[in-house]
Amino acid sequence: MKYVDEFRDGALARGIANAIRAEADPARSYRFMEFCGGHTHAIARYGLEDLLPPNVRMIHGPGCPVCVLPVSRIDAAIRLAAEPGVTLCSYGDMMRVPGSDGMSLLKAKAGGADIRMVYSTLDALRIAGEVPHREVVFFAIGFETTTPPTAVAIKMAERQRLANFSVFCNHVLTPAAMRALLTGAGGVPIEGFVGPAHVSTVIGMAPYAFCATEFAKPVVIAGFEPLDVMQAVLMLVRQVNDGRHDIENEYARAVTPAGNRKAQALVAELFEPRAAFEWRGLGSLPLSALTLRPAYARFDAEARFTVETVAAADNPACDCGAILRGLKRPPDCRLFGKVCRPEAPVGACMVSSEGACAAHWSYGRFR
Ligand code: SF4
Repeated sequence: MKYVDEFRDGALARGIANAIRAEADPARSYRFMEFCGGHTHAIARYGLEDLLPPNVRMIHGPGCPVCVLPVSRIDAAIRLAAEPGVTLCSYGDMMRVPGSDGMSLLKAKAGGADIRMVYSTLDALRIAGEVPHREVVFFAIGFETTTPPTAVAIKMAERQRLANFSVFCNHVLTPAAMRALLTGAGGVPIEGFVGPAHVSTVIGMAPYAFCATEFAKPVVIAGFEPLDVMQAVLMLVRQVNDGRHDIENEYARAVTPAGNRKAQALVAELFEPRAAFEWRGLGSLPLSALTLRPAYARFDAEARFTVETVAAADNPACDCGAILRGLKRPPDCRLFGKVCRPEAPVGACMVSSEGACAAHWSYGRFR
């Protein structure tokens, strides 16, 4: 398949691995964080860490949209779904993420709440059209990649004069999390980032400039195929060796310097930054998430309903918080593979298809 098979070529991967081994200075330590869960899965699936020399290490980052949502927001969504007359629509990954007291959207649905799993925002819009007597709330989560589809749904609801559609907005911002990791939100020291793939198709390259200018850290935006990741690591090794800290783009077949201006304009029209937002593992980060602008408040579930966000602790046995900060690896968790597995997840990192624990378990990476 074009743009897939040629980026999984074993001989080319071995060639890049040889170059990394030849160019990485044995006297140096290279710790690179792959921000995205998609990269984490590529690394685990293709065994890319086995191709790297011991002094080049990959550190998993917090770029899993389901994983970073704190328990308090999941609890709030469950309470919202319990409101009389409310139908809550959610992406499938969110359904099984544990909230407080072992509750989840799936369990709430089993208990009688009207919660529907949807594949897109347009499914939620369609449901709102089908049940005009109910309030249909879309549980909007994710980074900059999933925000434009939420914006499109709101614009369509406006055009269709759908009065029973709203959004429980939990969209978060990648650069804010990268800044938190670099300013030491309890995270591990790193020499550079493998930058997001899909997020960068939307926001472009400029939003990462602060990594270079303020923190002297390089970023190489990379695609999700194994050669993309290997090439990005080689580019990072070269930057570190040269003492450079540039924002480079390995994923030039999809990411442009400016990103998707149309999507950016639409998001800017509908959303504005929240003063602060709680992230699992990273705590409360300023200007790290979006909320609807006052002009669109009629589509904001938090304005239409009493959505109480009550602080709630993670399961103390789950190490998701430390894993999302890069301080631990999934097998470091004592529940990994024993009590916690994809079919019975204790934490969000084992539920999501982008979670680090799910990646390690699914591909047999037990170290
Ligand atoms: Fe949490 Fe399970 Fe991962 Fe442990 S293995 S950190 S309990 S998700």
